[in-house]
Amino acid sequence: MNLKKDTILIIEDEPPIRKLLTIALESRGYKVVDCDNGREAARLAGSVKPELIVLDLGLPDMDGKELIQKIREWSQSPIIVCSVRSEDDEIVKALDLGADDYVTKPFNPDVLLARVQANLRKAITQEAGEPELTNGAIRMDLVRHEVFLNGQKTLFTPKEYELLRYFMLHRGKMLTHKQILKDVWGPAHGEDMQYLRVYVSQVREKIERDVSDPAYIVTEPGIGYRMEILSADAANANLPDKDTPELKAASGA
Ligand code: CA
Repeated sequence: MNLKKDTILIIEDEPPIRKLLTIALESRGYKVVDCDNGREAARLAGSVKPELIVLDLGLPDMDGKELIQKIREWSQSPIIVCSVRSEDDEIVKALDLGADDYVTKPFNPDVLLARVQANLRKAITQEAGEPELTNGAIRMDLVRHEVFLNGQKTLFTPKEYELLRYFMLHRGKMLTHKQILKDVWGPAHGEDMQYLRVYVSQVREKIERDVSDPAYIVTEPGIGYRMEILSADAANANLPDKDTPELKAASGA
């Protein structure tokens, strides 16, 4: 469908991981440019202008976070950072500096490919402007401001609707607490975690079959939330039963 191959810049100093990434991405039709240090990466980012960047936070010559700052001065290409699991603080800092998503090492190439697709798609969605958003059994009509779960119209309060729309627009993507609060509630609400938690649980009550084990909006502990991309089939099993009291109450509210 897209004749121009998306170019992905990989910045990773461990040869086996760089090779694994390159093979996984090239097998999906992406064009890969790679390097193993920060200085070269900064230069390549400018000359190649990649559609997306995969960045190892631990580079030999530079802190990966420093590179994020440099790149963000002029580029909005999505950046996915790789780090080891014990460095959660580093991930949060990287996201705050403008990275879009992360994977922890050792990672499953399929997980990385899903993240790459979600982050490339986000850019397209924002440019094209869609009248309708779908994910699994959820369909949002953005023109009429209506939400359908398995074809059944369901009422959401204006704020719940906005939050759901935000998750749907950014489906598949890592979203930090701060980012969601800022984008949905405004800059003054950047620290209102409790506020966000309440609204996320309200939206979950309406869309999840099991709110204690959510399939759509999953918690990324200490970081934020991610709306998983579900197929319509997988999603049917995950919607609340149509005649549960909660849903009746919600649609009659
Ligand atoms: Ca490294």
